[in-house]
Amino acid sequence: KLYNQVQDLKGSIRVYCRVRPFLPGQSSFSSTIGSMQDDTIGINTASRHGKSLKSFSFNKVFGPSATQEEVFSDMQPLVRSVLDGYNVCIFAYGQTGSGKTYTMSGPRDITETSQGVNYRALGDLFLLAEQRKDTFRYDIAVQMIEIYNEQVRDLLIRNSSQKGLSVPDASLVPVSSTFDVIDLMKLGHKNRAVGSTALNDRSSRSHSCLTVHVQGRDLTSGAVLRGCMHLVDLAGSERVDKSEVTGDRLKEAQHINKSLSALGDVIASLAHKNPHVPYRNSKLTQLLQDSLGGQAKTLMFVHISPETDAVGETISTLKFAERVA
Ligand code: ADP
Ligand code: MG
Repeated sequence: KLYNQVQDLKGSIRVYCRVRPFLPGQSSFSSTIGSMQDDTIGINTASRHGKSLKSFSFNKVFGPSATQEEVFSDMQPLVRSVLDGYNVCIFAYGQTGSGKTYTMSGPRDITETSQGVNYRALGDLFLLAEQRKDTFRYDIAVQMIEIYNEQVRDLLIRNSSQKGLSVPDASLVPVSSTFDVIDLMKLGHKNRAVGSTALNDRSSRSHSCLTVHVQGRDLTSGAVLRGCMHLVDLAGSERVDKSEVTGDRLKEAQHINKSLSALGDVIASLAHKNPHVPYRNSKLTQLLQDSLGGQAKTLMFVHISPETDAVGETISTLKFAERVA
């Protein structure tokens, strides 16, 4: 399998596209998706010159009917490589409402079949660790943070009234079963909601990152290996109209814009093997520096909505993806 090879010609950066289905109650009469193959998607655009189809290619395209299980099974080798000592970053990119949280965590009323990558990845690591228990002893621990306006907040502190941390010294919590993980995710989601109001859903304007640290000891040789995986639900990539927002909203928008383009710059530099990789330009890329580049593996999941009124954001999302691919 490609992921298990140390040398990969493309430097282990993959870009996948996922298209959200129309939601219940939405008319599916006109969709921006004009064509879809295994690795290419065509978007219907209209301008004063008439209609046209614009194509974008990826390592893989998941259409509206792709299940959570299908999506996960495709990335399972990547997730599993963490137990072999690799560092992995998985990002969910896209405008608000395009399905980032659905991919990473699942829908609001989560069921076993609708569980997203986070739960499945941890469940799979526990399963594989158990299968290897005669040869390896694995310790697994998680961190959960949020980056809002370039400030880091620990999401796993109970009853916290903390201000932003400036260093990545968030609590590291040992986990040994999917039950532990589900409990922690609940706490994380609860803490993440602090600071949001009904009119002001902060979660779409902050990045959230679940980091899984793995340490494995070879029971015969005593050798120790370490791997980690960052599962990142990024802030919404939509452009805000600068003439319409002011104050805090404008500041948030500028921080998001800056950090998403810094992430794009880093991944594009790595993909094109540029000698200089600009990690220092955002909190997110600084925190993930050790897991981006080198032997590390990156998967960028770009999400798009099918509605025609989202076409502007869809094109800009696909252009972002094209740049990092
Ligand atoms: P984002 O995190 O990008 O803002 P969400 O993940 O919250 O978007 O998705 C917006 C809505 O669409 C939610 O109600 C979510 O459950 C639903 N949704 C997203 N992707 C899918 C999908 N692949 N299948 C079914 N429903 C989805
Ligand atoms: Mg979300």
